[in-house]
Amino acid sequence: MHHFAYRNGRLHAEDVAIEEIAASVGTPFYCYASATLERHYRVFAEAFPRSRALIAYAVKANGNLAVLKTLADLGAGADVVSEGELRRALAVGIPGARIVFSGVGKTKPEMAAALAAGIHQFNVESAGELEALDAAAREMGVRAPIAFRVNPDVDAQTHAKISTGKAETKFGIAWTDAPALYERARALAGIEVVGVDVHIGSQITRLAPLREAFSKIVGLVKALRERGHAIARLDLGGGLGVPYMDGGEIPPLPSDYGAMVEEVTAGLGLELIFEPGRLIVGNAGILVAKVLYVKEATHPGARRFVVLDAGMNDLIRPALYDAFHALLPVREAPAGAPLAEADLVGPVCETGDRFAARRPLPPLAPGDLVAFLTAGAYGAAQASEYNTRPLVPEVLVKGARFALARARPTYDEILARDRLADWQ
Ligand SMILES: *Cc1c(COP(=O)(O)O)cnc(C)c1O
Repeated sequence: MHHFAYRNGRLHAEDVAIEEIAASVGTPFYCYASATLERHYRVFAEAFPRSRALIAYAVKANGNLAVLKTLADLGAGADVVSEGELRRALAVGIPGARIVFSGVGKTKPEMAAALAAGIHQFNVESAGELEALDAAAREMGVRAPIAFRVNPDVDAQTHAKISTGKAETKFGIAWTDAPALYERARALAGIEVVGVDVHIGSQITRLAPLREAFSKIVGLVKALRERGHAIARLDLGGGLGVPYMDGGEIPPLPSDYGAMVEEVTAGLGLELIFEPGRLIVGNAGILVAKVLYVKEATHPGARRFVVLDAGMNDLIRPALYDAFHALLPVREAPAGAPLAEADLVGPVCETGDRFAARRPLPPLAPGDLVAFLTAGAYGAAQASEYNTRPLVPEVLVKGARFALARARPTYDEILARDRLADWQ
């Protein structure tokens, strides 16, 4: 479900024509629909009617302040993985008490910043991190509320590069080490044990691996309580997938996910925390690009290449995860227009700079605008300036209005970040 649709043959974001935005900010650009952000947040929140769940939006999926503010205004908390993301969440008014801090490599200054913000919970991923956090908290005269992120050794059945719940990944503490680490944590003056955390991966399209992981974790909660640990919270991470392709895998509905969680956690009186990212922002964003050239060779079997002004530096998911993004022409193709196969490529000097191979496409000519769908999550957030291509602007639409949520940097700004050495 999203709010990008044709009206009179022109693609719109809510009530705004994409062509109007393109004329104002130039291409390529990311465009987000407030209505989709709001809808997805609400659908997820409403999946947990009886529990008082904290929905800590995973900032890494899309950290733009205008996106974060939209979610903060709905009551979202935040899941952050760096001091930078912590600052983003605080900047839009998300209180520390609604922020959780995840990640395998938190530094002591980052821990101190989070403690100073009165953070809700640290999700601790190693024995070393536990000791460092204890020291940081004691130096500040406070106690750090923690959950251990436990690796349940469950296969999330998703792409290997976004699978985090198997024992061979770097994430979480080993299942078998959990009892001893909880004992150690109890002995530390700077640490207050509050919960257990799990996150097995991203773009998960089946409930079964989630149910398996959550059931294992609930077993651990019971065992820890029997040993006298005050486990009050269960952080079940993010990872629920979104549909990228018509006819592709249909991920579980948030309501079915919510019912499964209710069933698995029934009777335990746990405060639940969720860290959805992609589910909230994935379908709320598109990447709009312009066709620069259509390149055809004459030999038999030659591929046709549609060269766009957006590249892998702007949207790396196809190159990094073999991800599929549907493409729509901004001017709707006439009914019955013939489809022809082409490779959709960008201008970056890498063979991997390819959005799609042999994709059946409607007729496209230089100057035409196209939109990649489902680009709201891990799109702009993972963009870089590789090939010294400026980060593309981000635009937020609400109803009939649109606003620049991040401006395209100028070349002067980009070059001014470098310095010559004093001997040059
Ligand atoms: C990336 C991440 C998330 C969000 O994952 P989505 O698939 O976008 O929902 C949540 N929690 C942790 C710890 C993560 O690393």
